[in-house]
Amino acid sequence: MRQSNFWTLRLNGGGITKSLTCCCPRIIVSNMKRCLTLAFPMAISATIIGLTVSQTIAVKEEAIARIAAALPDAAPAKPAKARKLLVFSKTAGFRHGSIEVGALSLTELGKKTGAFEVTHSEDESVFEKNSLANFDAVIMLNTTGEVFRPKEWPADTAEKKNAQDREARLKANLLAFVREGKGLAGMHAATDTYKKWKEYNDMMGGAFVSHPWHKNVPLKNLEPKSPVNAAFSGEGFEVTDEIYQFRDDTALRSERRMLLGLDADKMDLSKGSRGDKGYPVSWIDTYGQGRVFYCSLGHRNEIFWNPAVLKHYLAGIQYALGDLEADATPLTP
Ligand SMILES: [Zn+2]
Repeated sequence: MRQSNFWTLRLNGGGITKSLTCCCPRIIVSNMKRCLTLAFPMAISATIIGLTVSQTIAVKEEAIARIAAALPDAAPAKPAKARKLLVFSKTAGFRHGSIEVGALSLTELGKKTGAFEVTHSEDESVFEKNSLANFDAVIMLNTTGEVFRPKEWPADTAEKKNAQDREARLKANLLAFVREGKGLAGMHAATDTYKKWKEYNDMMGGAFVSHPWHKNVPLKNLEPKSPVNAAFSGEGFEVTDEIYQFRDDTALRSERRMLLGLDADKMDLSKGSRGDKGYPVSWIDTYGQGRVFYCSLGHRNEIFWNPAVLKHYLAGIQYALGDLEADATPLTP
């Protein structure tokens, strides 16, 4: 199982994939998104190739410092037992540059508060039953596409059948894991994953369609009394990130307990095309005996060192783990 590796990023520029270290010297944080993103024009890739290991260390140290300064001191709930959390970030489609920062942040969040211990992996075999049984919850961190299948189906008929059977088995294992009482959390592109797999869409709660906004947006606190929203002290808040619009048959207020959403009173929503004009950003739900938390924030690196968002993530993860009680009953429209 691959551990989080902040040092070496696969950069894809102009169709060429290279492994190299990143990044820029002093302009570090403001330019980190640019440095960590994978969608590099070749010109930018070329300037990065010459950077030194010490510069890479500076980037890592700066991110660690930002994250450390943003982490909450304590978890909202005392874990019923030592909790093991799988952070899975395999991408079969677009790869977000914030994955490495996100995995680091979630790892430190668990470590500092004692709420959970993170194992970070991009190897889908961790979803084999025996391995999955070691965890109390799974976080799909910016996963994209069909993550349980090979990049290409094997040409050989028998091998292809094996790969298809394996994908079906891993999908069934994830559903059973949650249905039988474990937890699931999703960040940002977790809803840009398996969009044609209805059970997954139902369980995670949304299927990404587009991102009409990438700017500072006002978020409405839809559940000021929910312990998962305690980070916001009963108020709404503003945040800069890429904001998702979900497919019309998903992310329905009648199906899950919405916690945050774009504030229609403070923002022009005409760029959105959703039928019910609903633009939720985070929610909780139950699935069988298990619990689900999703938050669409997580495109940008800074999200993972935003103190309010980290508190919200932590409460949502503790809800998914079964340690933090919260009412997930949907409100009828
Ligand atoms: Zn994104």
